[in-house]
Amino acid sequence: METHINKRFVRLFILSAVITGIFLSLPQAAAKPVNHIFMFIGDGMGLAQRSIAEMYLKGILNDPNAKLAMNSLPVQGIMTTLAADKPITDSAASATAFACGQKTNVGFVGVDKDKNRLTSIADILKAQGYKIGIVTTSSIDNATAAAFYAHQESRKSYYEICSELAQSGFDYLAGGGAMGEKPEIRQDKPSIVQAMKDKGYSIITTKAELEQLKKGAGKVWAYNYELDDQAGLFYEKDRPSEHASLIDYVRKGIELLSDANDPNNKFFMVIEGGNIDHACHKNDAAAMVHEVLALDQAVCEAVKFYGEHPDNTLIVIFADHETGGLGMGRNGGSKFNTDSLTKQKCSAEMFTARLKKLYDANSPYDTVANEIGNSFGLTNLSDNETLLIQRAYKYAFKIPDAGMSEDEAKALYGNGEPVTITCTQLVSVRAGIGWTTMAHTAIPVPVSAAGVGSSAFDGYFDNTAIFQNLQAITTPQQQ
Ligand SMILES: [Zn+2]
Repeated sequence: METHINKRFVRLFILSAVITGIFLSLPQAAAKPVNHIFMFIGDGMGLAQRSIAEMYLKGILNDPNAKLAMNSLPVQGIMTTLAADKPITDSAASATAFACGQKTNVGFVGVDKDKNRLTSIADILKAQGYKIGIVTTSSIDNATAAAFYAHQESRKSYYEICSELAQSGFDYLAGGGAMGEKPEIRQDKPSIVQAMKDKGYSIITTKAELEQLKKGAGKVWAYNYELDDQAGLFYEKDRPSEHASLIDYVRKGIELLSDANDPNNKFFMVIEGGNIDHACHKNDAAAMVHEVLALDQAVCEAVKFYGEHPDNTLIVIFADHETGGLGMGRNGGSKFNTDSLTKQKCSAEMFTARLKKLYDANSPYDTVANEIGNSFGLTNLSDNETLLIQRAYKYAFKIPDAGMSEDEAKALYGNGEPVTITCTQLVSVRAGIGWTTMAHTAIPVPVSAAGVGSSAFDGYFDNTAIFQNLQAITTPQQQ
């Protein structure tokens, strides 16, 4: 597994070197029609998430010059993310702002704060003849993706959001499945998958089927046959090789949406790294790093396309908000270093699933401690580390002398599983990484861009500017 991962990183690094060359050799394109637009959204991906991933890459490659592709783009900006009703936003309000150009309330998708329907940039571009693709590691009806096609007062109205997906007419949907199709949500209402088939979508659920898709395949909805509890892709750290990865879905999307033989070919592709946010909610730095690197590999694919079509391609990369209040350096920990992250073998989510089995079997502390060592590389524990894990174990396993109130547990573990959160925190302490929260923050986020119109993304601006810039860049000029 480690060799497999290292090979992936070596490939990534070679691509990064090529990418730097592409930007050095190509002049910034003049104002020409932008026919190919890549929008990458790292959900929860702030500056520290990107920087820690880059430091990790340098470490694992033992190369101080290794760099993320997204950090190599020529235009770098800063974006504020505040919602209409709160300073700390969520994916729904932020995605509505950058997809539709209007501030809205937390939880609202594709409607303004007065609940009026908004038109997304994807709908505008579709009307102009662009093919539309949405790829996400989260479910296709999660708030970020939904802001491009749905109009709901609640991001949790998954079935209604999915019903709008079937009406979207978008060309390529890939990555996660649909929460709205889950039996407990759909109940006795008609199947969304069937509704998509009725609209002419091919439903693709394996990597082999995905690889076989050829240009002219028509409308496609590709998701993995095996998904997590939230209908998303497995974390990159846990992904079996038979599961298609984010990069597989992006590569196929470029192949299906582009057409080198058609000078009028136009497409708009949204690519979301949704698991970055999910990892940060668990303060799981190791899983977060692998999600950022996976998104960066997908960025490499877009940059390769840009290298072949520099006159009419735009790439823009940003986050909907930051998650975790992530810092590089902390009190009471080691000096900042990413070495301890390399010792973690699975995501916190995967560990929690294993822990639940131990919990069901009433496993003794030593068995749990052994699993912690195997999963997180937390061996040779200090007295203080042992104490913290034992407290969490006693609380989680409802051992009477746990000596912790519910309020105290809430402050320590949030909504997370106590032993798991303690372990992700201890890994972070060993790495000198700090977290202020298990939720979102109001910290402005980095924006990177390259290609036609990319200079609009330079500077310090609000998230509604993403929509406004794209609209300005793509509005057909009067002759
Ligand atoms: Zn979140």
